[in-house]
Amino acid sequence: MEKMPVMFVGHGSPMNAIENNDFTRKWAEIGKKINKPEIILSVSAHWVTNGSRVNDEADPKMVYDMYGFPQELYEVRYPAPGAPAMAVETINLLDQQVNVDNSWGIDHGTWSVLCRMFPQADIPVFQLSLDHRASAEAHFQIGQKLAALREKGVLIMGSGNIVHNLARANFSMADGYSWAYEFDEYIKEKIVGREFDQVINYHQAGDSAKLVFHTTEHYNPLLYVLGASSADDRLTIFNESCTLGSISMTAYLFEERR
Ligand code: ZN
Repeated sequence: MEKMPVMFVGHGSPMNAIENNDFTRKWAEIGKKINKPEIILSVSAHWVTNGSRVNDEADPKMVYDMYGFPQELYEVRYPAPGAPAMAVETINLLDQQVNVDNSWGIDHGTWSVLCRMFPQADIPVFQLSLDHRASAEAHFQIGQKLAALREKGVLIMGSGNIVHNLARANFSMADGYSWAYEFDEYIKEKIVGREFDQVINYHQAGDSAKLVFHTTEHYNPLLYVLGASSADDRLTIFNESCTLGSISMTAYLFEERR
């Protein structure tokens, strides 16, 4: 079986589920370009729990975990099946305490991207939560263990934003603040150079690191993706941009070289 890619996607505004813009057009293009996965494992910024959890329902519910948006957004349906057997396999792979939790489902960090990337909703999807007690290094190490799933037809997607500071967001800005670009560029250089310890220890970016986020949940999915990548993967960077002042949309796709 061909090894599946692993990718981090900057999801940005939930409105990307229903708006057409350069970001969503690129998501659609990527979905057509990569080989169709058998299963998608999403590590979404929007599922943070005590300890790591997976959902294993055959028919996971959609979670509309965003507030104050137009009704149209709450009517989006992404009826992808779940992946119960692969959820169990994932628990076995992570030799640590991982619990099944079906109180959550497929949240907007996942469906807002997938409804544009794989609009047929025919690929089973399950999520792995972010353990809020885990260090950046621990998130990365979980990603390293997840790498084995790439050999089993699983596309691992981290969904978050490398820069995500809603308190500083300016909804009339199409681009980003200078410090947002500065941090985004810094992280890009470290990823391209595979200096992942510098991505884990992002504080060393300097002043910009103090502004880019106050909580790490949108950043941490990136660490899973880097952990699951291989040194010989081909890296494609897409949607490299900042928007709304303080949101980075930059995405990273790691694919096996053929
Ligand atoms: Zn988000």
